Amino acid sequence: MPVIALSEAELASHPAFEGHEEVVRIEDEATGLAGYIAIHDTTLGPSLGGCRVWRYADEGAALEDVLRLSRGMTYKNALAGLNLGGGKAVIILAPGAPKTPALFQAFGAAIEELAGRYITAEDVGTTPADMADVARATKHVRGTPASGVADPSPYTALGVFHGILAAVEYRFGSSSLEGIRVAVQGLGHVGWHLAEKLHEAGADLLVSDIDAKALARAEEAWGALAVPVAEIHAAPVDLFAPCALGAGLNAITIPQIRAAIVAGAANNQLAESDDAGRLRERGILYAPDYAINAGGVVALALAGAGRSQTEMRDKVEAIGATLAAIFALAAEEKTTTAAIADRLAEERLTAVKRRSQAA
Ligand code: NAD
Repeated sequence: MPVIALSEAELASHPAFEGHEEVVRIEDEATGLAGYIAIHDTTLGPSLGGCRVWRYADEGAALEDVLRLSRGMTYKNALAGLNLGGGKAVIILAPGAPKTPALFQAFGAAIEELAGRYITAEDVGTTPADMADVARATKHVRGTPASGVADPSPYTALGVFHGILAAVEYRFGSSSLEGIRVAVQGLGHVGWHLAEKLHEAGADLLVSDIDAKALARAEEAWGALAVPVAEIHAAPVDLFAPCALGAGLNAITIPQIRAAIVAGAANNQLAESDDAGRLRERGILYAPDYAINAGGVVALALAGAGRSQTEMRDKVEAIGATLAAIFALAAEEKTTTAAIADRLAEERLTAVKRRSQAA
């Protein structure tokens, strides 16, 4: 299985490469496998991060994506208190090419060559069944149907829900969601579970999705009000929960937000780092994305270590306490919640590096 380390020159030309320990190109002509595995940082343990399958416009877009996502996993795993580093994989699907069991088995063989430095799981475009195919070739995989946590999204939703409780308590002085108006953008795996929990807790829901059937189901199930896709971020609500794609918080959308809180599951919500400052200037409380959406990876990690359901739930629910601490520190230090989350993750990494150097 060809696993080709990228040259220093190839990587140096890529700004997102900074700080990565290892990046390999994976390819297998027989199965059509092509893509990258990026290992950003293994200070805390082997790198864990999902495999994204996407029809990328070109090689550069795929490399950019894997580098950005693997770095994000280092921060997510560190802040969640996991003894895991950050890594990620992307598979480039050619136009018209199908996903096949052989493709994922070849991907598993590539992971096996990295000898446990990278552990894979689901991400956008992959399923528990795909992970079962990966598992034919390597044990360094989580989220298979037999693993205890086949679908991490209910745990991600549980973590986001507890993050929302912490944010509502911080902003409004009570964690009751009775009568709180929430705009949920995206009713997919995570958004649907989250909306269900919010409804059960008494919140009034406004929802948007590009899938009209999902909207009809939400109207029927919870009396949710459907809002056009282009308007959901500006809905007159208390809390906006982005649960669709990234980069939804930007110089254009932030001035239009009417919610007091932004707290949702989507990865990479800020289009650029200045957007954290834009939210703060407007007095909007922002729950940093990788802090609030870590429930899925927490569950995958603990299931992989043979921990009980109770331990998993407790650690996922602790995301609420992590966010409460981030909100308080950001206010005390007059800085953004995103800056505090980054600092807490970096402090944990630095402390562990110092201890291992001293040993
Ligand atoms: P998903 O693909 O199941 O759901 C996404 C939903 O968003 C779909 O229903 C889609 O129709 C909808 N959508 C797409 N474009 C939209 C738009 N412009 N406006 C409104 N809706 C739109 O994905 P998911 O697993 O639910 O993940 C949602 C987000 O959370 C992603 O950003 C993902 O990276 C992040 N996330 C997911 C997990 C997890 O456990 N699944 C963990 C961490 C982070």
